[in-house]
Amino acid sequence: MLILKLSLCMVGVATNANAFGDMKMSFSPSKVIVTGAAGRTGKLVFSALTKDPKVETLGILRTEKSAIKLRKETKCGLDNLVVWDITSTGDIPKQMEGSEAMVICTSAVPVISKTSMVTSMLKIPLNLISGKKAFNFRDLKFKYKPGQYPEKVDYEGQVAQIDLAKKLGVEHVVIVSSMGGTDPSNFLNTIGKSEDGSGNGDILLWKRKAEKYLVESGLSYTIIHPGGLTDGPGDVNELVLDVDDELLKNEKRSISRADVANLCIAALTEGRGKKVSFDCITRETAEGTKVQSAKEALSSFLSTGKTTNYDL
Ligand code: NAP
Repeated sequence: MLILKLSLCMVGVATNANAFGDMKMSFSPSKVIVTGAAGRTGKLVFSALTKDPKVETLGILRTEKSAIKLRKETKCGLDNLVVWDITSTGDIPKQMEGSEAMVICTSAVPVISKTSMVTSMLKIPLNLISGKKAFNFRDLKFKYKPGQYPEKVDYEGQVAQIDLAKKLGVEHVVIVSSMGGTDPSNFLNTIGKSEDGSGNGDILLWKRKAEKYLVESGLSYTIIHPGGLTDGPGDVNELVLDVDDELLKNEKRSISRADVANLCIAALTEGRGKKVSFDCITRETAEGTKVQSAKEALSSFLSTGKTTNYDL
């Protein structure tokens, strides 16, 4: 475990902005941990929270390299960062004490297999001669780095974080997980596995197992299952929330990381004290149409009483 040295004179970008919008501050957590804070969604959650002077935000990062990059990109203070591997069994960093909420944005990250990349490149001349698409992205294969596969990161890592939340007395945990958890044959589960089914894959199944651990933990939680993630802006398209992979029936099943980050932040206030798990995508709206904020969409979804059925 390596903890970045604190620098009292360096504080996060303090503006008068409030990450929770027009939320009553009495319901906002004053100290929030964001794990996977250098990841693409984690960074958006972390960045929005560090801009709120009323919230003490701690980003947890696996490597010093990620911490330096995040600091450069968000201009946060050193005291906003803790370098700690979520699978570590070392002592809990002291800075985390007193945290009221935790947003978990860690995940095993598939990487492109170099062999499949080379094979796809070698096929280009032949494809061109035969009039086919020069480079077929479907030929690319993905895998996980050694020791960084879903059972380790998405199950053991998340269980470690949920246990950590309990030890710290954190009241509310938000997890960014994924849609598709009801279907063991989902394509994403094949990543990391050989054709005979051996290997370390099943990302959605391990994520769902970790979710069940959280559900049984006694903590209050918001589990968010996004559809395909994009890097588009937030607050542009209509948020659609539902449960049990019903949204997979839609042709368009994506959502921007910015919208997911907004839902995470909304969950810290709207979802606080509640135990809810849901799927989310966005639907395009006519230009100029005013869309509900993440806070409004989550609040109206919570009033339906729906939540994921983990018996499916
Ligand atoms: P991402 O950019 O892939 O970030 C994942 C983060 O997890 C990285 O910051 C990585 O750290 C961190 N991490 C991995 N192993 C760790 C460990 N052992 N200790 C500490 N941190 C560790 O995430 P994203 O693409 O924004 O996705 C957010 C979530 O949405 C993920 O759970 C993903 O599975 C899920 N999701 C993705 C899609 C999609 O279309 N991609 C769709 C639905 C749901 P480093 O920065 O150090 O590498």
